[in-house]
Amino acid sequence: MAPLASRLTAAQSIALETEFGSPTYAPLDVVLTSGHGVWVEAIDGKRYLDCVSAYSALNQGHVHPRILAALIAQAQRLTLTSRAVRNDQLPLFLRDLAIYSGYEMSLLMNTGAEAVETAVKLARRWGYRRKGIARDRARIVVCVGNFHGRTTTAVSASSVEQYRADFGPLTPGFDIIPFGDIQALRAALTDETCALLIEPVQGEGGVNIPPAGFLQAAFALCRERNALFIADEVQTGFGRCGARFALDREGITPDVMAVGKALGGGFYPVSAVLASRELLTLFAPGDHGSTFGGNPLGCAVAREALAVIVDEKLAQRAETLGTELTRRLQGIRHPLVREVRGRGLLIGIELSVKANTLATALLAEGILAKDTQDYVLRIAPPLILEREHVDMIVAAVAKALDAISQ
Ligand code: PMP
Repeated sequence: MAPLASRLTAAQSIALETEFGSPTYAPLDVVLTSGHGVWVEAIDGKRYLDCVSAYSALNQGHVHPRILAALIAQAQRLTLTSRAVRNDQLPLFLRDLAIYSGYEMSLLMNTGAEAVETAVKLARRWGYRRKGIARDRARIVVCVGNFHGRTTTAVSASSVEQYRADFGPLTPGFDIIPFGDIQALRAALTDETCALLIEPVQGEGGVNIPPAGFLQAAFALCRERNALFIADEVQTGFGRCGARFALDREGITPDVMAVGKALGGGFYPVSAVLASRELLTLFAPGDHGSTFGGNPLGCAVAREALAVIVDEKLAQRAETLGTELTRRLQGIRHPLVREVRGRGLLIGIELSVKANTLATALLAEGILAKDTQDYVLRIAPPLILEREHVDMIVAAVAKALDAISQ
């Protein structure tokens, strides 16, 4: 193989990635080399305001100094033990997570998809051992447009054909209803249903917000029919939607919650399933596990990531600046814009043209943002945003919209 130059150009870097990497993504052709706060810098020296935030995993911003310090300090002491032995960071993090979330217990994993997998296993086990569902008959209701990850089970719950095609045989036991349709939910909940698995706002599905009152009605229906309400707050949690969890806004405490992304502070994959002691003690030693779940490095990072969310009042910030940004984006009233909707700093701009055209035009304005589904551009900056950044985003979107309509 030919030797590489010490510093690659963007084109060389992209060529290498294309040659050696499986093409599972169609990324923006910007090669980032550094990030700080809301800003990232590309290989050619150009700076961008990051409105992707690694799909909400960077609520605290890039390379947050406090989280970096926690990472370095722990990395110099102890990084990985597996759960074969105990470590001194895990109990501290479990306690902090309980205090933050209000849940009695948690089970730590790494990625969002694993948290969802764990929640599915927990709900099924509850269905057999508590609800009395006959063996292997348990069913879980999910919604059209959901995104719960890329594992075989998560894609088995998906309504998107591309996520499922030629990956079968898929995991059975999912019933799919339209997002926000309470009548469909009523019809789907049977004696064999162990849970409803739902995102409070569908992030990947196009920043879809259910009709007012739906989530509360769905929660009440699950209670009535003795089914668990599982919230996937992997993307919407930890301040993103202007509250601690998006469901706080609805006054709902789900039976089970899957969280991830921002829990790792942008440094390290940390995810968890949160639930009551009664539910999480349905698992016994040997029933479930992960080599990396609960490792001391991840726990130390996640503790600091949580502390930053609280200390910097990121949820309140997301609510104030998100409301302003949504209102001002709505005010642009461009003919290509069908709708601007959002919760906190999870905002979707639905267009009448392909959203990747706007994403590309925004690059020229110094903004990183990505389409989610064909016609929706997602704007989800780090929650440490300042008001001046709101002004920049609004001006850039207006200019980019004009550029693509010429
Ligand atoms: N659930 C939701 C709601 C998500 O948005 C995502 C990721 N976009 C996942 C689960 C999967 O998380 P991960 O990519 O960390 O597996």
